[in-house]
Order: sequence, then structure tokens, then C-alpha cells
Amino acid sequence: MQTLNLAGGCLFVNVQASSYAVGAAQGIFADSQKQKQLLAVLSPRNSTIEFPNAASTADADIAFVIPLAARDEEVGVLFLSQKVSRQSFSSDDIYLLQGLASAAASGMRSAMLVRDVSVRDTFVSIASHELRSPLTAIMGYADLLLHRNPPDATRKRWLENIIDSGQRITDLVRDLLDVSRIHAGKVVMKLERVKLCDVLDEQMTIVREYSDNHTFVLEVAPDVPDALIDRDKFGQAIGNLLSNAVKYSPCGGRVILSARHDSQRHRVVVSVSDQGIGISRADRDSLFTTFHRIQRPETKGIRGIGLGLYTVREWIEAMGGEVWLKSELNKGSVFSVAVPAYGTVATAKKLHAVQRTR
Ligand code: ADP
Repeated sequence: MQTLNLAGGCLFVNVQASSYAVGAAQGIFADSQKQKQLLAVLSPRNSTIEFPNAASTADADIAFVIPLAARDEEVGVLFLSQKVSRQSFSSDDIYLLQGLASAAASGMRSAMLVRDVSVRDTFVSIASHELRSPLTAIMGYADLLLHRNPPDATRKRWLENIIDSGQRITDLVRDLLDVSRIHAGKVVMKLERVKLCDVLDEQMTIVREYSDNHTFVLEVAPDVPDALIDRDKFGQAIGNLLSNAVKYSPCGGRVILSARHDSQRHRVVVSVSDQGIGISRADRDSLFTTFHRIQRPETKGIRGIGLGLYTVREWIEAMGGEVWLKSELNKGSVFSVAVPAYGTVATAKKLHAVQRTR
């Protein structure tokens, strides 16, 4: 699902097979109660909706619900909030809205088509390219094992290489499947009450295995509450940030995984910091998009396909959370994610809004 949050409280909601979903924590619709009302406006709706449809009966803050149709295909819906001044919309405003809706519809349709084609092509080329080298390694070592009779130590090394290559293929297929599920809107979030220190501990234990070159520190503040998250996906997201912290600090250093309570916003903030190569300001914008890898002499030879951060952000946002980054070139980076704390009124409502098929 794609949502575009415009200043003034507009929201595009993508349509999938006649079903609608509203992004969590988006602008004026961050209020989960309001999200429910929006979905209620949409569900009984049929395609003969008048344009623009006055929706203020559903919620006083919403002025219009406007279907976005291009070539008879409904590609989205535009919600429009009331004017800040609360004045009614003039005929000029409506005229402008009609033009905007029609331009937005064809723009969205083209963007969706271009994205589908280019993502599919990129998928195929990256998958085949990245699969080739571990598959060649597996075939090569298996062939050697079959036809030679090496000493035990060599046999062990060859078998370890086969396992390592098999793991790379498994990871690659998992990453591609995760992204294709996100694109198809088929991610299911199983939100539940989770004790964060258990998940962080598990991920720390895994990442310690990756490197003898780094010092790993886990800092969980004593007042960190339980969180309302999808345990597996959250664990995978933190694991991803930790493995990046190791990968992109090839000279070693400290990797700190920390958790604190943001009591004002009823959420838990988890951060992963490293003392690695850092990320320049210019490179940050496209960091969370698919297949994006920063090309620098320092990243040469570091394995990856540029799907990790994209998946992290999609999942964390689907849990009602947020991801951000602070970094200084050649000094290190801190990636932070905030997720809802369990037990607040806000998160209890959010559970209803987010627990859905995306
Ligand atoms: P991958 O690591 O597979 O390339 P990611 O989506 O996880 O894909 O990361 C995208 C890019 O962001 C990486 O290629 C790298 O250039 C940059 N990056 C991610 N994490 C860090 C980090 N901790 N320090 C420096 N650069 C990073």
C-alpha cells in the first residue's frame, strides 16, 4: 500500500482488488479512530460515487472523498480535510479539485506501471546475478568432494563454503520474497505484546557470531515497557540493522544496540549505532528505496542487494512506528526505530487499525 501525505491533510489510499487500507500514523489520520471512520466511508461505497463526494457526515474533519480513476481503472482515493478556516469550498475550489484528481489519477497509474515493470526487471536481473556466484560455489565444492578425497580439514572447509553459499541463497530468496510481498500488499502483521529485551538479546547473540573484530554492547533502559509489535518481523528488522552496522564498519569498533522509553509519545526507541564508514547527507534520501546501494570506494566488496533498509522501514511503519538515521561520514551511523509501547490507549486502538493484510 502506498500513502502520500500532503500538507493540508490529504491522503492517497491505494486500492487493491476493491479493498482499501489506511496507512498507520499518517498526518491528520494518525488517529486510529479516524482511520476506522475513513474505512467505514469506503466500504459501502460503490463505483457510482458522485464527484466529489461530501464526506463530512462521516467525520467533521473530512470534506471530500474523491475516487481517482484513470482509463476506467480506480487507482486510489483522495481524502480531503476541511479548510483550516472551516469555510466551505467554492465552485473554483471544486473545479481545481477535479483537475487535481484527474492529473493525480493518471500520474499514479503511470507511476504504478513504470514501477511494476522496472521493479520486475530489476528483480530478475539482480536475482540471477546474485544467485550465480553462490550456486557456482556450491556446484564447484560438491564436485570436488565427489571426485577428490581431501584430508578432513579441507573437507570441513569445503563443506563450510557450501553451507555459507547456501545461506546466501536462502537470505537472498527471503529478501526478494519479503519485498515482493510488500509490493503485492500481502504483508500480514501479527501484532502482539512483546518483551523487547528478549528480542534484542536474541539478535545480539546472532550478530556476535558475525565478527570478532567488533565490540558489541546491549543497553536496555530499566523502564522500557513491552511493545506492541510483530515479534518476528521486528527481530528481523533489528537483525538487519545490526548486520549492516557490522558490514559497514569493516575496521571494527563498537556496535551498540540500545532501547529507551519515549514516555511522551508512548513508544519505545531502539537504536543501532556503529563507528563505521557513515553516510553522507546527499546519500540519505534514497537510502530506504529498493535496490539502492551507495557506491563508494569503501563499500566495494561488501555484499548486499539493497533491500534491507527498504523492508525495515516498510515493516516498522506498518507496525505504527518510524525509522530515522543520524550519521557522519567516516565516523559512524545511528539507525533508530520507534514502535508503539504496549498498554496505552493509543496503541490499543492502533492494533485494530494496523492488524490487517497490507
Ligand atoms: P545492502 O546492505 O544489502 O546493500 P540495505 O538496504 O541494508 O542493503 O542498505 C542500503 C545501503 O545503505 C547499503 O548498500 C549501504 O551503502 C548503506 N548502509 C546501510 N547501513 C549502513 C551503515 N550502518 N553504515 C553505512 N552505510 C550503510
